Amino acid sequence: MAEPADFRTPVKPVWCPGCGNFGILSALRGALADSGVEPHQVMIVSGIGCHGAVVQYVHVNGFHSIHGRTLPVATGIRLANHELKVIAVSGDGDGYGIGMGHFIHAMRRNLDITYIVHDNKLYSLTTGQTSPTSDKGSATKSTPFGSIEIAVNPLTLALSSGASFIARGFAGDPPHLRKLITEAIAHKGFSLIDVLQPCVTFNKVNTNDFYKERVYKLEDEGYEPVDKAAAYERAVEWNSRVPIGVIYKEDRATYEDEVVTIQDMPLVKRPVEGVDITRTMEQFM
Ligand code: SF4
Repeated sequence: MAEPADFRTPVKPVWCPGCGNFGILSALRGALADSGVEPHQVMIVSGIGCHGAVVQYVHVNGFHSIHGRTLPVATGIRLANHELKVIAVSGDGDGYGIGMGHFIHAMRRNLDITYIVHDNKLYSLTTGQTSPTSDKGSATKSTPFGSIEIAVNPLTLALSSGASFIARGFAGDPPHLRKLITEAIAHKGFSLIDVLQPCVTFNKVNTNDFYKERVYKLEDEGYEPVDKAAAYERAVEWNSRVPIGVIYKEDRATYEDEVVTIQDMPLVKRPVEGVDITRTMEQFM
């Protein structure tokens, strides 16, 4: 069985010292080991943003896609080869801004994809502009007098869009996040983990200390993530207390379960007979 170290690559992360991305990376490698998968059985797809480099730091198959298109690429990979564990990684700007339409449709389809969002409430790669999850009033490089828009709540959006596993993690608690990612990988269906990820360079409000003072674990309160109305109440909690843990989960058929053409075998294993694809291959290889 693979160990977390088996998912390391020789590439040294370029993230700023103290960035929450390090906690997420460590939790992800640990969760892969806990899931009992081998590196060749996993595909990670990332988008554009500080998170995007993650594909270079985890020793599995990787696809660094374009801005906001993490989920369409992950969808294509799942439909081509549903024997792969597909983990899509995004940021709040990439996933909830540019990729918002894809996010909603992937959830209602219930594709079997684990979606980890590094949510630092800013576009950080471009040096700190307001993102969809920036709170109203946030003073950023693009909103020096404070944002005048209310923030997107990814958890309530996921509840209303049909995600079958919805959780929130905190980058400052990698062991807890590791358990959440392991559970999400084991879940059959679309799983969202929105991760509170301090950006130490540009976000001076939502810091490590900010979250440490506020986060509490749902499981410590005996919360059972089975009721949508109760989940909604927890999902809107954002004050002196901020919940982390699994907010909601349900079992239902995945999109892949209902695509008749892939029931007997993955598309990539289907023999291509009577069709000459030489020219197509030459064009793309
Ligand atoms: Fe992390 Fe922010 Fe630095 Fe990006 S800019 S690597 S999110 S601390």
